[in-house]
Amino acid sequence: QDNANYLLSLIRTIPGFPKEGINFRDFMPVLADAKGLSILIDALAKALPVSVDDFDAIAGLESRGFLIGAPLAVRLGKGFVAIRKAGKLPPPTKRMEYSLEYGTAAIEIEDEAIRPGERVLVVDDLIATGGTAVAAQKLIEGHGAVVAGFSFVMELTGIPTPDAIERCRRSSLLTMP
Ligand code: 5GP
Repeated sequence: QDNANYLLSLIRTIPGFPKEGINFRDFMPVLADAKGLSILIDALAKALPVSVDDFDAIAGLESRGFLIGAPLAVRLGKGFVAIRKAGKLPPPTKRMEYSLEYGTAAIEIEDEAIRPGERVLVVDDLIATGGTAVAAQKLIEGHGAVVAGFSFVMELTGIPTPDAIERCRRSSLLTMP
């Protein structure tokens, strides 16, 4: 609980960013704080939604998922796979489009990065509508791999979580409105 409070004390809330009506939760100050960063990675490792033996690799969502996914992977002795916004990775890649509040976005993984049958833990800083998480799950399943679970730093309350995510194992270190 002390650790959770320490992390919470470092998270900034920015009203109206990136647009009107959004309360942006910024966890960059946690990473900038030596103690905060070490508590964060430790806490993610302790709160894994599945046993460490039940997944083969960690996939991080661009870009804040990279910042926690890679150190978590080192800590747990796993490889790290980047799920990037479309157009950043060299081919061959697979792509998944998904809807945002306005318009669509797309994410990609390099074909070589995940093997069929692999069990992947997906990490990101925050889950809000779960749209990004669902797209990541479809992308991973499109490779013939499976999502073993999701690890988030923050989860926003008061927003329904998609069924596809509810059916998965997931852990969120901090919940906030
Ligand atoms: P979702 O797809 O669940 O609605 O949104 C989650 C994605 O948007 C994540 O990749 C997350 O990094 C980003 N995101 C949405 N809202 C916030 C926020 O308030 N703070 C941060 N740090 N990221 C957010």
